[in-house]
Amino acid sequence: MSARTIGIIGGGQLGRMLAMAAARLNFRTVILEPQPDCPAAQVANAQITAAYDDPAALSKLAEMCDVVTYEFENVPVAAADSLSRSVPVYPPPRALEVSQDRLVEKRFLNECGIETARFKSVDSQDELETALESFGGVGVLKTRRMGYDGKGQKLFRSPADDATGVFAELGGVPLILESLVPFEREISIIAARAIDGTIACYDPAENVHKNGILHTSTLPAGVSETTVDQGRKAARAILDHLSYIGVIGVEFFVLGDGTLVANEIAPRVHNSGHWTEAACAISQFEQHIRAIVGYALGDPRRHSDCVMQNLIGDDIDNLQEWLARPDVLVHLYGKTEARPGRKMGHITQLL
Ligand code: AMP
Repeated sequence: MSARTIGIIGGGQLGRMLAMAAARLNFRTVILEPQPDCPAAQVANAQITAAYDDPAALSKLAEMCDVVTYEFENVPVAAADSLSRSVPVYPPPRALEVSQDRLVEKRFLNECGIETARFKSVDSQDELETALESFGGVGVLKTRRMGYDGKGQKLFRSPADDATGVFAELGGVPLILESLVPFEREISIIAARAIDGTIACYDPAENVHKNGILHTSTLPAGVSETTVDQGRKAARAILDHLSYIGVIGVEFFVLGDGTLVANEIAPRVHNSGHWTEAACAISQFEQHIRAIVGYALGDPRRHSDCVMQNLIGDDIDNLQEWLARPDVLVHLYGKTEARPGRKMGHITQLL
């Protein structure tokens, strides 16, 4: 109950929605973000305009805040670690370490007893060719670090696909080759763990991507109760292994027989959980704030079926149409320029 000011590293829309949820529960927020007038700072109490790893900015953040969280997983681990010596940082920096590197992440998931695609570490063109051969010439090659929204990836659909020069093409950085998962659909589970170890899981959303970016999340997902249970168990195992505090997003592939293969984890509120603000009493944003300040978690039950759709680039031009709909909740992110591929807002239609 002593936390009064929450620091948020990262000033995008996730930080914005966290700051709004924090304000509703009487918490002040300070955003650390190099871009001035960022989406989060527009609704927060203060912004420290500096790089995420600026030592002076980090000490100022620690001084101003009772607890610090983050809205994206590429926060430098060293910065989170040093910060955690003077102020609690939730989720724990170990969660950043695991989610920043796809190889570490896959090994961690397997250690938790969770199925993933088969994978091979690739550090040279030679290793790429050997790894591809062992997967029958088929797989998804990804940069180990800093990939998002399908960026830094190369798909090998058939053994005829040429791998010549691909290691250099992806920047000559450490890579991971994953076996191609023959999935029927993709789902994600948003879950939270409180300081006392209590866990709450939202219902899984079924996600459809367009050009590598999340397009829609639909509730309920077209999966059986057994599949839902498997996903919840996996989310719990991840949260407990990390002694996690806060909200996490776990993405899964669903195979033809309903079994799940984990794809990745995001140690933060997640785009595929935005529907919770319209279809649950307690949104993922409030849930995260509750968890990191030491409050009891809210009820994750869903009161309505719904579809969340991202408004990307000039999708925002249809705003008046969405506003006229009685069944649609509109949420905009305060970004002035609608560039192609840029997330401008989202809508959730209650069904
Ligand atoms: P990621 O950046 O890992 O989330 O991958 C982006 C998208 O690429 C996923 O949502 C899937 O649609 C597809 N994808 C990624 N990895 C695999 C895989 N191993 N097998 C099949 N599809 C994949």
